[in-house]
Amino acid sequence: MRLIVATRNRHKVAEIRAVLAIPGLELIAAADWPGLPEVEETGLTFADNAILKAVAAARATGLWALADDSGLEVEALQNAPGVRSARFAGEGADDAANNRKLLELMDGVGDRRARFRCAIALADPSGAARTVDGVCPGKLLTAARGAHGFGYDPLFVPDGGTLTFAELPAETKNRISHRALALAAARAAWSHIFA
Ligand code: IMP
Repeated sequence: MRLIVATRNRHKVAEIRAVLAIPGLELIAAADWPGLPEVEETGLTFADNAILKAVAAARATGLWALADDSGLEVEALQNAPGVRSARFAGEGADDAANNRKLLELMDGVGDRRARFRCAIALADPSGAARTVDGVCPGKLLTAARGAHGFGYDPLFVPDGGTLTFAELPAETKNRISHRALALAAARAAWSHIFA
């Protein structure tokens, strides 16, 4: 079974590969399939955007496709940055700029509750798709800690722990993260593919 992983984020690809290491399942990253269309993320929800990406990749390749749309929701910011997580500090912003903007907005804010959310969409070659979700609650620090992972990982401590996602080993993040939980739900929902 071959499955296109419709993301150009190499960190996401690595995490998806680690969680979906299933004998007989070949995961093909978007970067390794020349000519895959770029998809504009115009959806208002993570699920909408995941479906847009999965359907475009499935139609373009004639294969089943999996897409991840994910981000950080901060309680005190009315769930921002949400679907705008990747471009929080502006179009083309990098992780450092996004983290800086988040710390500025959260300066002096006592309520540090936040959650990572991930929607995983799976589309068949005809373009029929549906999604499953994963959520990981936690809280935001006032300064970055740790060098692993990507995105907002250095600012986020998952509930029940003391280390940030960027301090935890990849194996631990890949057991408890929003992405790991959504991928576990995907395995259960599409058991014929992830046998
Ligand atoms: P997407 O590629 O449009 O789904 O945007 C994902 C963005 O959400 C990333 O660029 C990060 O800013 C953030 N994000 C999603 N998942 C994670 C994670 O596991 N750790 C840290 N940041 C994440």
